[in-house]
Amino acid sequence: MSNTVAAYAALSAGEPLVPHTIELREVGPHDVRIDIKFAGICHSDIHTVRDEWGPANYPVVPGHEIAGIVTAVGSAVTKFAVGDRVGVGCLVDSCGECVNCRRGEEQYCVNGNVQTYNAVGRDGKITQGGYAQSVVVTERFVCRIPDGLALDVAAPLLCAGITTYAPLRRWGAGPGKRVAVVGLGGLGHMAVKLAHAMGADVTVLSQSLKKREDGLALGATAYYATEDPDTFTALAGSFDLILNTVSAPLDLDAYLGLLAVDGVLSTVGAPAEPMSVHAGSLLFQRRVLAGSIIGGLRETQEMLDFCAEHNLGAQIEVIGVERINEAYERVLASDVRYRFVIDTSGLSQGRSNG
Ligand SMILES: [Zn+2]
Ligand SMILES: [Zn+2]
Repeated sequence: MSNTVAAYAALSAGEPLVPHTIELREVGPHDVRIDIKFAGICHSDIHTVRDEWGPANYPVVPGHEIAGIVTAVGSAVTKFAVGDRVGVGCLVDSCGECVNCRRGEEQYCVNGNVQTYNAVGRDGKITQGGYAQSVVVTERFVCRIPDGLALDVAAPLLCAGITTYAPLRRWGAGPGKRVAVVGLGGLGHMAVKLAHAMGADVTVLSQSLKKREDGLALGATAYYATEDPDTFTALAGSFDLILNTVSAPLDLDAYLGLLAVDGVLSTVGAPAEPMSVHAGSLLFQRRVLAGSIIGGLRETQEMLDFCAEHNLGAQIEVIGVERINEAYERVLASDVRYRFVIDTSGLSQGRSNG
């Protein structure tokens, strides 16, 4: 097994992604080497390669929705064996010792976790993501993909799935709970499916009614357009939980007004601009304004098991590696229902050429 593998990389902020090769580390005692079959395209990939989130370490091989098969394990690995179906999400390492790591919330590691790409690994090298033939990851950050879940529809669960699952669980989405999902994109469509599978009554709040049929098919019982001001009067005080998946600034007071007493507005969307809120929108109905980012490894595995149990994957459009740049443009134009997933098998071609 060669450590030189084919990948797709951004060489600078202004250029399209191109075929590239990367060097994997040797499989250490605690490492798992994975033959990547599918990698989802997350909006974060685009922000990162275009240098919109602070200095990128070019070349950047993005991708943190990884699904594949184990091809090698280190001598001390106990959880995985060659041939296992596995996934890797947004994190590949953390200190493992701080209060948050010890309770399985590695995403909040006090000493700083290591993200799957464009980060400095504990070996001092820049991490490279899933738009590649293979990846080497310490076993603590590898999840098992249950047999009932196809690898292509499972890939987006590793970011879009856990990002929405964690706040839905945190705030008790379930039978008798009225949950609204703001935005029906990559994250939003997963939130609808997951909240519905948890037994909640789900409403979609989308800018227009364009995707109404989809939203209802995914499990929502109601669908409202937020461009219609009547929506905010009709639904006042209606929800126990609102999950915001949109990264455009939100009129927080308007959305908080849709919550009942003790209702929670949790955001997973990350607008660049600060948002203001009137204290009265919170205190008069004892409402909560919250946020959440991905999830720890324990919960990510729980989410994958939950999805397998409920026969639930992402809605995807599978593309070959040669269409990555085109897919980026379509993501930016919101022209995807609901996640692009790269079939990485075309990368072997790039390898023999390069
Ligand atoms: Zn992501
Ligand atoms: Zn830690």
